[in-house]
Amino acid sequence: MEEQLPEDKLNKLLPALRPLAEYVSAGDTIDRRTLLDILSSVGVDREDWALQELQRWGNILMKAHSASTDAEKNAIESELQNRGISISHSQLAVFLAGPQPLSVEPQYIDFGCLTPGQGADATLTVSGGSVKATVRNNRLKLTLLSRGSGVTLVKVILSGGSAGKSLRDSIILQGGGGELEVPVVARWEEPLRPPRLQVCRRCNEKSLFWNFVDKKYECLNLKCKAEGPSPDKLVRPHER
Ligand SMILES: [Zn+2]
Repeated sequence: MEEQLPEDKLNKLLPALRPLAEYVSAGDTIDRRTLLDILSSVGVDREDWALQELQRWGNILMKAHSASTDAEKNAIESELQNRGISISHSQLAVFLAGPQPLSVEPQYIDFGCLTPGQGADATLTVSGGSVKATVRNNRLKLTLLSRGSGVTLVKVILSGGSAGKSLRDSIILQGGGGELEVPVVARWEEPLRPPRLQVCRRCNEKSLFWNFVDKKYECLNLKCKAEGPSPDKLVRPHER
Protein backbone atom coordinates (compact mmCIF):
# COMPACT_ATOMS: atom_id res chain seq x y z
CA MET A 1 0.00 0.00 0.00
CA GLU A 2 1.31 3.39 -0.91
CA GLU A 3 1.92 5.88 1.82
CA GLN A 4 -1.04 7.95 2.96
CA LEU A 5 -1.03 11.70 2.58
CA PRO A 6 0.02 13.71 5.62
CA GLU A 7 -3.02 14.97 7.48
CA ASP A 8 -2.76 18.61 6.40
CA LYS A 9 -2.69 17.66 2.71
CA LEU A 10 -5.50 15.17 3.17
CA ASN A 11 -7.70 17.80 4.83
CA LYS A 12 -6.96 20.21 2.01
CA LEU A 13 -7.95 17.68 -0.62
CA LEU A 14 -10.95 16.16 1.17
CA PRO A 15 -13.53 18.69 -0.18
CA ALA A 16 -12.68 17.34 -3.67
CA LEU A 17 -14.02 13.88 -2.79
CA ARG A 18 -17.67 14.79 -3.14
CA PRO A 19 -17.49 16.46 -6.59
CA LEU A 20 -15.27 13.59 -7.71
CA ALA A 21 -17.89 11.04 -6.61
CA GLU A 22 -20.56 13.03 -8.46
CA TYR A 23 -18.49 12.96 -11.65
CA VAL A 24 -18.11 9.21 -11.32
CA SER A 25 -21.84 8.81 -10.71
CA ALA A 26 -22.58 10.74 -13.89
CA GLY A 27 -20.50 8.24 -15.86
CA ASP A 28 -18.19 11.05 -16.98
CA THR A 29 -14.60 10.08 -17.65
CA ILE A 30 -12.11 11.11 -15.01
CA ASP A 31 -9.36 12.59 -17.11
CA ARG A 32 -6.69 15.13 -16.22
CA ARG A 33 -8.95 17.99 -17.29
CA THR A 34 -11.71 16.81 -14.93
CA LEU A 35 -9.27 16.44 -12.06
CA LEU A 36 -7.90 19.94 -12.63
CA ASP A 37 -11.44 21.34 -12.73
CA ILE A 38 -12.29 19.64 -9.46
CA LEU A 39 -9.10 20.87 -7.83
CA SER A 40 -9.72 24.45 -8.86
CA SER A 41 -13.38 24.22 -7.75
CA VAL A 42 -12.22 23.41 -4.20
CA GLY A 43 -9.33 25.88 -4.28
CA VAL A 44 -6.43 23.40 -4.26
CA ASP A 45 -3.36 24.23 -6.33
CA ARG A 46 -2.69 21.91 -9.24
CA GLU A 47 0.27 20.22 -7.60
CA ASP A 48 1.39 16.72 -8.48
CA TRP A 49 0.59 15.18 -5.09
CA ALA A 50 -2.99 16.49 -5.30
CA LEU A 51 -3.51 15.27 -8.86
CA GLN A 52 -2.08 11.86 -8.08
CA GLU A 53 -4.13 11.35 -4.95
CA LEU A 54 -7.33 12.54 -6.61
CA GLN A 55 -6.70 10.18 -9.52
CA ARG A 56 -6.24 7.36 -7.00
CA TRP A 57 -9.56 8.21 -5.31
CA GLY A 58 -11.18 8.37 -8.74
CA ASN A 59 -9.94 4.89 -9.64
CA ILE A 60 -11.34 3.53 -6.39
CA LEU A 61 -14.68 5.27 -6.84
CA MET A 62 -15.05 4.03 -10.42
CA LYS A 63 -15.58 0.58 -8.92
CA ALA A 64 -18.47 1.98 -6.85
CA HIS A 65 -20.28 2.90 -10.04
CA SER A 66 -20.96 -0.75 -10.79
CA ALA A 67 -20.89 -2.20 -7.27
CA SER A 68 -24.22 -3.78 -6.38
CA THR A 69 -23.72 -5.74 -3.16
CA ASP A 70 -23.01 -4.36 0.29
CA ALA A 71 -19.84 -6.45 0.46
CA GLU A 72 -18.51 -4.81 -2.71
CA LYS A 73 -19.39 -1.36 -1.39
CA ASN A 74 -17.76 -2.09 1.98
CA ALA A 75 -14.58 -3.17 0.22
CA ILE A 76 -14.48 0.08 -1.74
CA GLU A 77 -15.09 2.12 1.42
CA SER A 78 -12.16 0.29 3.06
CA GLU A 79 -9.92 1.22 0.15
CA LEU A 80 -10.78 4.88 0.69
CA GLN A 81 -10.23 4.50 4.44
CA ASN A 82 -6.79 3.05 3.67
CA ARG A 83 -6.02 6.40 2.06
CA GLY A 84 -6.78 8.08 5.40
CA ILE A 85 -10.35 9.11 4.58
CA SER A 86 -12.84 8.84 7.47
CA ILE A 87 -15.56 6.20 7.58
CA SER A 88 -18.36 8.73 7.12
CA HIS A 89 -16.66 10.49 4.19
CA SER A 90 -15.90 7.20 2.47
CA GLN A 91 -19.48 5.94 2.90
CA LEU A 92 -20.91 9.14 1.49
CA ALA A 93 -18.50 9.10 -1.46
CA VAL A 94 -19.31 5.49 -2.34
CA PHE A 95 -23.04 6.25 -2.11
CA LEU A 96 -22.68 9.34 -4.32
CA ALA A 97 -20.53 7.53 -6.89
CA GLY A 98 -23.24 4.94 -7.52
CA PRO A 99 -25.78 5.45 -10.28
CA GLN A 100 -28.37 8.04 -9.25
CA PRO A 101 -32.03 7.67 -10.20
CA LEU A 102 -32.93 9.23 -13.53
CA SER A 103 -35.18 12.24 -13.63
CA VAL A 104 -36.45 14.19 -16.60
CA GLU A 105 -38.04 17.56 -17.26
CA PRO A 106 -40.60 17.89 -18.76
CA GLN A 107 -42.18 14.51 -18.07
CA TYR A 108 -44.17 14.45 -21.30
CA ILE A 109 -44.21 16.36 -24.58
CA ASP A 110 -47.48 17.52 -26.07
CA PHE A 111 -46.79 19.23 -29.39
CA GLY A 112 -50.52 19.94 -29.66
CA CYS A 113 -52.28 20.53 -32.93
CA LEU A 114 -50.00 21.42 -35.83
CA THR A 115 -50.84 22.44 -39.36
CA PRO A 116 -50.10 19.83 -42.04
CA GLY A 117 -46.38 19.64 -42.79
CA GLN A 118 -45.47 21.65 -39.72
CA GLY A 119 -42.67 20.30 -37.53
CA ALA A 120 -41.78 21.18 -33.97
CA ASP A 121 -39.04 20.66 -31.44
CA ALA A 122 -38.58 20.35 -27.69
CA THR A 123 -35.73 19.77 -25.27
CA LEU A 124 -35.65 17.31 -22.39
CA THR A 125 -33.29 17.82 -19.47
CA VAL A 126 -32.29 14.45 -18.05
CA SER A 127 -30.42 14.16 -14.74
CA GLY A 128 -28.87 11.08 -13.21
CA GLY A 129 -25.85 10.10 -15.26
CA SER A 130 -25.22 9.19 -18.84
CA VAL A 131 -28.28 8.01 -20.72
CA LYS A 132 -29.30 6.36 -23.92
CA ALA A 133 -32.45 7.64 -25.57
CA THR A 134 -34.49 5.67 -28.07
CA VAL A 135 -37.72 6.21 -29.89
CA ARG A 136 -39.81 4.03 -32.22
CA ASN A 137 -41.38 6.57 -34.51
CA ASN A 138 -39.17 7.76 -37.34
CA ARG A 139 -40.86 11.18 -37.31
CA LEU A 140 -38.94 11.85 -34.12
CA LYS A 141 -35.21 12.51 -34.19
CA LEU A 142 -33.17 12.73 -31.02
CA THR A 143 -29.87 14.50 -30.42
CA LEU A 144 -28.09 14.05 -27.10
CA LEU A 145 -25.85 16.72 -25.64
CA SER A 146 -23.95 16.01 -22.47
CA ARG A 147 -23.89 18.93 -20.07
CA GLY A 148 -21.54 17.29 -17.57
CA SER A 149 -22.34 16.45 -13.94
CA GLY A 150 -24.84 13.86 -15.04
CA VAL A 151 -27.07 16.22 -17.01
CA THR A 152 -27.97 15.41 -20.60
CA LEU A 153 -30.01 17.58 -22.90
CA VAL A 154 -32.10 15.62 -25.37
CA LYS A 155 -33.19 17.67 -28.34
CA VAL A 156 -36.36 16.22 -29.84
CA ILE A 157 -37.18 17.16 -33.41
CA LEU A 158 -40.55 16.26 -34.88
CA SER A 159 -40.91 16.30 -38.65
CA GLY A 160 -44.19 17.40 -40.21
CA GLY A 161 -47.10 15.05 -40.73
CA SER A 162 -50.08 15.15 -43.02
CA ALA A 163 -53.60 16.33 -42.21
CA GLY A 164 -55.59 13.97 -40.03
CA LYS A 165 -52.53 12.10 -38.79
CA SER A 166 -51.50 11.89 -35.18
CA LEU A 167 -48.44 10.66 -33.35
CA ARG A 168 -48.31 8.81 -30.07
CA ASP A 169 -44.92 7.59 -29.02
CA SER A 170 -42.58 7.48 -26.08
CA ILE A 171 -38.97 8.42 -25.70
CA ILE A 172 -37.24 5.72 -23.67
CA LEU A 173 -34.39 6.97 -21.50
CA GLN A 174 -32.04 4.35 -20.10
CA GLY A 175 -29.28 5.00 -17.61
CA GLY A 176 -27.38 3.27 -14.83
CA GLY A 177 -30.12 4.23 -12.39
CA GLY A 178 -33.04 2.78 -14.36
CA GLU A 179 -35.35 3.61 -17.20
CA LEU A 180 -37.86 6.38 -17.85
CA GLU A 181 -40.50 6.82 -20.49
CA VAL A 182 -41.52 10.24 -21.81
CA PRO A 183 -44.78 10.17 -23.78
CA VAL A 184 -44.91 12.31 -26.92
CA VAL A 185 -48.10 13.31 -28.69
CA ALA A 186 -48.83 15.47 -31.72
CA ARG A 187 -51.53 15.75 -34.33
CA TRP A 188 -51.91 17.54 -37.63
CA GLU A 189 -55.13 19.18 -38.75
CA GLU A 190 -56.19 21.63 -41.40
CA PRO A 191 -56.53 25.04 -39.78
CA LEU A 192 -60.06 26.15 -39.13
CA ARG A 193 -61.44 27.74 -42.21
CA PRO A 194 -60.72 31.48 -41.97
CA PRO A 195 -63.65 33.90 -42.13
CA ARG A 196 -64.98 34.03 -45.61
CA LEU A 197 -65.75 37.69 -45.79
CA GLN A 198 -63.13 40.34 -45.25
CA VAL A 199 -62.71 43.51 -47.25
CA CYS A 200 -59.68 43.50 -49.52
CA ARG A 201 -57.13 45.99 -48.26
CA ARG A 202 -55.73 46.58 -51.72
CA CYS A 203 -58.88 47.89 -53.35
CA ASN A 204 -61.12 48.36 -50.29
CA GLU A 205 -64.03 47.52 -52.55
CA LYS A 206 -64.78 43.84 -52.45
CA SER A 207 -64.54 41.01 -50.02
CA LEU A 208 -61.81 38.46 -49.87
CA PHE A 209 -62.61 34.85 -50.54
CA TRP A 210 -60.66 32.01 -48.91
CA ASN A 211 -59.81 29.53 -51.62
CA PHE A 212 -59.76 26.35 -49.59
CA VAL A 213 -58.23 24.24 -52.36
CA ASP A 214 -55.33 26.56 -53.21
CA LYS A 215 -55.13 27.82 -49.60
CA LYS A 216 -55.01 31.50 -50.42
CA TYR A 217 -57.15 34.60 -50.15
CA GLU A 218 -58.53 36.00 -53.37
CA CYS A 219 -60.13 39.38 -53.92
CA LEU A 220 -63.53 39.05 -55.56
CA ASN A 221 -63.01 42.38 -57.39
CA LEU A 222 -62.16 41.41 -60.96
CA LYS A 223 -60.29 44.70 -61.46
CA CYS A 224 -58.15 43.98 -58.38
CA LYS A 225 -57.63 40.19 -58.29
CA ALA A 226 -55.24 40.53 -55.37
CA GLU A 227 -54.42 37.27 -53.65
CA GLY A 228 -52.12 35.97 -50.96
CA PRO A 229 -51.62 33.65 -47.99
CA SER A 230 -53.16 36.10 -45.49
CA PRO A 231 -55.29 39.27 -45.72
CA ASP A 232 -52.26 41.46 -45.03
CA LYS A 233 -50.04 39.81 -47.64
CA LEU A 234 -52.03 40.39 -50.80
CA VAL A 235 -50.33 40.74 -54.14
CA ARG A 236 -51.96 41.77 -57.42
CA PRO A 237 -51.31 39.70 -60.56
CA HIS A 238 -49.18 42.37 -62.30
CA GLU A 239 -47.00 42.67 -59.17
CA ARG A 240 -45.87 39.07 -59.32
ZN1 LIG B 1 -59.12 43.89 -54.02
